[in-house]
Amino acid sequence: MSHPASAPDEIESLYKSAMTQFQRAADAMGLDPAVRTILAQPKNEVVVNFPVRMEDGRYELFRGYRIQHNNILGPYKGGIRYAPQVDQDEVKALAAWMTFKTALAGLPFGGAKGGITCNPSKLSDEEQMRLTRRFTHALGSNIGPEHDIPAPDVGTNARHMVWMMDTYANSVPVGERNRARAVVTGKSLACGGSEGREKATGQGLCYLVEAWAERKGIALSKLRLAVQGFGNVGYHAALIASEMGARVVAVHDHTGAVMNSAGLDIPSLRRHVDQSRKLVGFSGGETISPESFWDVDAEILVPAAIENQLTSDRARRVRARVVFEGANGPTTPQADRILQDRGIEVIPDILANSGGVIVSFFEWLQNKNCESWDLETVDRKLRRQVLKAFESTIDAASTHKTDLRTGAYVVGLRRLERAYKERGIFP
Ligand code: NAD
Repeated sequence: MSHPASAPDEIESLYKSAMTQFQRAADAMGLDPAVRTILAQPKNEVVVNFPVRMEDGRYELFRGYRIQHNNILGPYKGGIRYAPQVDQDEVKALAAWMTFKTALAGLPFGGAKGGITCNPSKLSDEEQMRLTRRFTHALGSNIGPEHDIPAPDVGTNARHMVWMMDTYANSVPVGERNRARAVVTGKSLACGGSEGREKATGQGLCYLVEAWAERKGIALSKLRLAVQGFGNVGYHAALIASEMGARVVAVHDHTGAVMNSAGLDIPSLRRHVDQSRKLVGFSGGETISPESFWDVDAEILVPAAIENQLTSDRARRVRARVVFEGANGPTTPQADRILQDRGIEVIPDILANSGGVIVSFFEWLQNKNCESWDLETVDRKLRRQVLKAFESTIDAASTHKTDLRTGAYVVGLRRLERAYKERGIFP
């Protein structure tokens, strides 16, 4: 299987792609025109430029963003991304998706996203710490436990969240420091994190895989998955799916791709990647070209890396019956139409990866109430919440005779519309 590199689709703007999805759902449901106007733009766009002292003593200037899309249902909520391609347009799209995701999940949160344009793999631990603390300081009172609550995303993890929390806590009066722990979620357990938060996005996705398979009458042992991305979302989705009895036959990350039609041993693959920093060379599978990953024979495709990976060309070749969007915006608008024409179902990002923000909500609640729930409680509550959103999505899609993505938006938009109608627009 060899392919020339796939020609990229015309992607004018990620925000435009997000708005096309939103407008389609708004049309399908007849969304109130005033609410449509409000949701078409974020409420606040914070851009900060700040210097960081590097290991060699130089000062480098970094640019960071915090886009607050909407907070009618509760405090702004969304991750922080560290990656070279981060720009205002990308963060705007990701912030809008958070508004629709939290509304669909029925959480008392709004939507936001943040990021810094940087290459974390080129930064030492010390530099990453200074970068994170300087960014938090620059954001100042734009974040807060009742105002805007960041979480990890691509290129960040619990360490970064603990640095953010500590920096923020040191900027508030001593009497408020304990309360300040709830300013971020996705923290380590030692610093106020929740059981089950690290795996939550992959876990939520796997609960949906289980429910989808049950509806189709397919045994989990008959399911094969191809997973793109072997970071937080991709790794946990692959691990949990294989523990449930499914076979993960291919994995693809930014270093390459491997496959094994008998199923990859995910814990061994993790050890291999931790040691060698790359997927290729894994003794438990064969190395394939990254482009061939999209041709792999598997019932389920899980794009769990970054946006715009599933292009038209790849959508024409995909052999899966269903795509579970672990990543945000992994499918281009053109590819989305091709998948639909080919009868390939798409479980949309705002549903498929909502497990992370659902457990972030649980972490926030635990922090506020000084509680600590066990893993069984977290997983049980997550399962219930994500399956409820799945059922509502299926119902809305069937009522409006539309695809699941539009159905998921309709559920979220109805909640937002109701809140605006009852509260009115001040003054
Ligand atoms: P991560 O940084 O932990 O992992 C990203 C993975 O993507 C890595 O394995 C990397 O190698 C791979 N990747 C990056 N560029 C690639 C490319 N061009 N081709 C192939 N692979 C590539 O990030 P994450 O937290 O797992 O996030 C992945 C996606 O899931 C993002 O879209 C993110 O917004 C979304 N998401 C994350 C969470 C969360 O809780 N972390 C929650 C909801 C959604």
